[in-house]
Amino acid sequence: MARSWTRRDFLRGTGAAALSLGLAQLELACGSNEPPPTSATPTAGPPTPVQQALPQLPAYRTWEDLYRNQWTWDAVARGTHTMTNCVGACAWNLYVKDGMVWREEQKSTYEASAPGLPDFNPRGCQKGACGSNLMYSPSRIRYPMKRAGERGEGRWQRITWDEALESVASGIVDALEKEGPASILCELGPNIGAGPNSAAPFRFFRMLGAPATDSMAQVGDLATGATITLGNPHPCGSSDDWWRSSYLVLWAFNPSATRIPDAHFLYEARYKGAQLVAICPDLNNSAIHADLWINLRPGTDAALALGAAQVILAENLHNADYITEQTDLPLLVRTDTNRFVRQSDLQKGGSDKAFYVWDSVRNQASPAAGSGSSSTLDAGAVKPALEYSGSMTIEGKPVRVRTVFSLLKERLDRDYTPEKAAEITGVSAGLIRQFARGFAKAPAALILSQWGQCKFLHADLAQRAQILLASLTGNLGRAGGGWRSGGFFAPEGFALLSMQEQLGLVDLAGFAAKNYMDPEKTRAFFSQYFVPGSIWHQVHGGLSDVSGDLSQGDRSVPRSPKEYLREALENKWFPVQPTPGKAPHVILSIYGNVLRHVRNNTRLTQTLWPKVKLTVDVNFRMNETGRHADILLPAAYWYEKSDLKYLVSFVPYVHLGDRAVPPIGEAKPEWEIFALLSAAVAREAKKRSLAPYKDIGDLERDARRLDEAFTDRGRFGPTDEEKALEFVLSYSTTTKNVSLADLRQAGAVRFKSTGAPGGTAGYYSDYSEHEPLVPHRWFTEKKQPWPTLTGRQQFYIDHPWFLECGEAMPVYKPPPAAGGNYPLVLSGGHTRWSIHSQWRDQMPMLRLQRGEPVVYMNDQDAAQRGIADHDVVRVHNDLGQFLLRAKIARYVQPGQVFVYHAWEPYQFRGGRSDHSIIPSPFKPTSLVGGYGHLRWGWSHWEPNQVDRDTRVEVEKA
Ligand code: SF4
Repeated sequence: MARSWTRRDFLRGTGAAALSLGLAQLELACGSNEPPPTSATPTAGPPTPVQQALPQLPAYRTWEDLYRNQWTWDAVARGTHTMTNCVGACAWNLYVKDGMVWREEQKSTYEASAPGLPDFNPRGCQKGACGSNLMYSPSRIRYPMKRAGERGEGRWQRITWDEALESVASGIVDALEKEGPASILCELGPNIGAGPNSAAPFRFFRMLGAPATDSMAQVGDLATGATITLGNPHPCGSSDDWWRSSYLVLWAFNPSATRIPDAHFLYEARYKGAQLVAICPDLNNSAIHADLWINLRPGTDAALALGAAQVILAENLHNADYITEQTDLPLLVRTDTNRFVRQSDLQKGGSDKAFYVWDSVRNQASPAAGSGSSSTLDAGAVKPALEYSGSMTIEGKPVRVRTVFSLLKERLDRDYTPEKAAEITGVSAGLIRQFARGFAKAPAALILSQWGQCKFLHADLAQRAQILLASLTGNLGRAGGGWRSGGFFAPEGFALLSMQEQLGLVDLAGFAAKNYMDPEKTRAFFSQYFVPGSIWHQVHGGLSDVSGDLSQGDRSVPRSPKEYLREALENKWFPVQPTPGKAPHVILSIYGNVLRHVRNNTRLTQTLWPKVKLTVDVNFRMNETGRHADILLPAAYWYEKSDLKYLVSFVPYVHLGDRAVPPIGEAKPEWEIFALLSAAVAREAKKRSLAPYKDIGDLERDARRLDEAFTDRGRFGPTDEEKALEFVLSYSTTTKNVSLADLRQAGAVRFKSTGAPGGTAGYYSDYSEHEPLVPHRWFTEKKQPWPTLTGRQQFYIDHPWFLECGEAMPVYKPPPAAGGNYPLVLSGGHTRWSIHSQWRDQMPMLRLQRGEPVVYMNDQDAAQRGIADHDVVRVHNDLGQFLLRAKIARYVQPGQVFVYHAWEPYQFRGGRSDHSIIPSPFKPTSLVGGYGHLRWGWSHWEPNQVDRDTRVEVEKA
């Protein structure tokens, strides 16, 4: 009787084929009764070692049977890759055979947003296409383990779940007893979803009353220039709206490598006549498809944008009505203090949040629409002047005032003519003019600038200058136009499951309507138990010893960044828990890999890890952080649990990642892990008679009843993952009237709404299921004030720190020599072959590249140093060195070298990665607080970790 096949049999069989084992030999190995081989086929001799190792495969008659058997399955489930930060979401069918997912196939479930538009089909990327390889890879963690040697030594002992949970619970209760909940940190990475398994750690830490890190800036992804200018760092829309643009600018954005499921909209737009412009130093995977490639010098993006803005104003190509209504350009600024004219300047007890324009009809200062008590941008009978310079009586004396527009224009004409911008950027003045005119004259021009740009020290200045271009031309709020990064929508049910203790509250609907739907209250609600991850590691990881040193960053600022940091913390502009000086006792890492992604990462293992009594990694795979953990808790893979993919703006669909098979080994879904852990903590706390305590939000908590709080008094037990998922669906407007059964049928369902407007959504438009998503229409069409201090797109920031650092307006500042005075700039980018580190060690992906870390070098730079392709080289600067192979690549500019994202340190020779020599300086201006929209908030405002300005030398090792 033929035995049934397992995936292992199949892989071994096909692996043998790859070793040139002929079909005739396979037949012999299977004991086939087929006719003997002809003289043209190899003669069967004694079995080879490979043949001996082969399993007994089923008898078959011809090669077609082998092929047909290969394409059979027992069941098909709907799946996606829920807890990977790919900023995509794609519907897949998962084919299950003998209890294993053996292949996946894209599911073309999407419809066009409107007739005549391209649809989203098919979605996927090559990582997702080999998701089942990752699932069954050798780096998978199958059992709870505790370390048997020193941290990072790599010696492990398998333990039971009870032992693991008791150890972690004991560590947590120790910390509660000795230092309180602030000493227990959830190190929350970016690989989160939007269902119960992602809500689980949020809920656990919320009920414990302990902090979790906000990782947005910690991984270098916070678009601070958009926070400064637009009041939200996530301006977003759907990718089918790209197709409606006539002038598409990929600014430090390489979608063919990093936005694979969406890139087709750009290239389809070219077929209808759109111009595609790529602005990047390297001829990358997307630039090769562009009509215009502007290869500026690295880090000079702000100068290019300001040069183009100068052309637009000088040639009168700007949209004066738009910027008068929507921006702060007509606001009046005092030339004695360089601060806005405020009501508090003119009236005793007046507001410091009410601003003024110059009414050119009445020839007098007039309150600016959208600020102070005004709730509309409609100026009515007032005609604000864009250009004005004159005198006003302020505090009893004459003071010269000017509009922001006048100041900006003067600065552009003085410092950023195309000729001057050409000297900085290396881009010819003629090309800058061509770009500016093309952008300004296009019916709809769109700058796509995503998270790569954020990783420069002066990214905020570049982003402010890019947004200025989009605004001067009236593109923000227009279909196919504007400046966009990307955003995530928040299903309300997910937020409630994550944060709300008593889920059965009778006024739940009222809560959602009254509180959750208000963006400000939502942000405050979310932010309460988060700590700014980047700043947390500056303080507790000791990173600021290097990154806060003036020599590493912008030397033009008057004080060292470390001093600004101290002052910002003293002012309580950013919460850090535990407070500086106290040590964290427990770190529980989930959905991330902090010891890989933090810049200057070796410092964390040297400074932070020795202070921490217990480190735990909850993960499905072994990574750098897991290697240094004390306890590993094995999480189920994405095909082994039911969850939702996060709701990303590019594709307005809710995606189900369903449980196709049971978890491998003893892995468990996160919902179950944290439910069991809450019970273990409760038991331990009861054993020690731990008294109730005040949590970091000053609420009273009782760890003896943590399990009751987590499960909502038993409503959602450890194995109630599906029930919790149904809760998320039923309490979210995004999935109104969509059940789990519906999602299981379709795989992905179009949003019914964009959910709560707060959180990380930077959408600010009404949503329709029948058109692409275009952000900012509430401001341009409904005349609502922007969420900034002035109620307008704000290009002028008059906070004293911005003024003293010379950054009140968008300006160009040269990149720092971070890491020392070395001739090459170390840059990078997200890789095409992995999502962060999750696929970095996967053979199907390694086969598409060199198979190990490489540094890309221009051929001239390599020749000057006597380096040949594939040589092992030493990359070094003042912070240290790392070793890897060189790849000679002419598409990289001379003077620049690239190490693409997310190799694990253990994949490098010597175990030190590129991140070990990246000092990641930070900006004083990003530490400002208490200034309208510039204040700490989850995923809203703090200094980024940055890497693109690092200087190095490379030599043959
Ligand atoms: Fe899509 Fe992300 Fe999966 Fe790739 S990894 S197929 S982008 S969901």
